[in-house]
Amino acid sequence: MASRAGRRQARQQHRADRAASAGSNSWLGGHQQVERRSGTEWVVRSVTGTASAKQYRCPGCSQTIRPAVAHVVVWPVEKALLSDSALDERRHWHRPCWQRLA
Ligand SMILES: [Zn+2]
Repeated sequence: MASRAGRRQARQQHRADRAASAGSNSWLGGHQQVERRSGTEWVVRSVTGTASAKQYRCPGCSQTIRPAVAHVVVWPVEKALLSDSALDERRHWHRPCWQRLA
């Protein structure tokens, strides 16, 4: 494997590293995409039941999301002015409740 691309690999390594750190976000596993709701862009990450060990309250229906239930985690792409991090604004939603918002 390495012998085939070995010579070019060294030169491309730097770029590959940057791409990897920008694109890799293995937090909670699962896959992530950006969706737009009422003029705001949100990062929407799927959480599988096996990755979910805690209980959350869904802002869409005010019901509990029980442990081991697959759902989505949503946070704004751009953080709010008063928060340290957009990740502070993470909210856990039932997937259908989030999709009803569309
Ligand atoms: Zn809900």
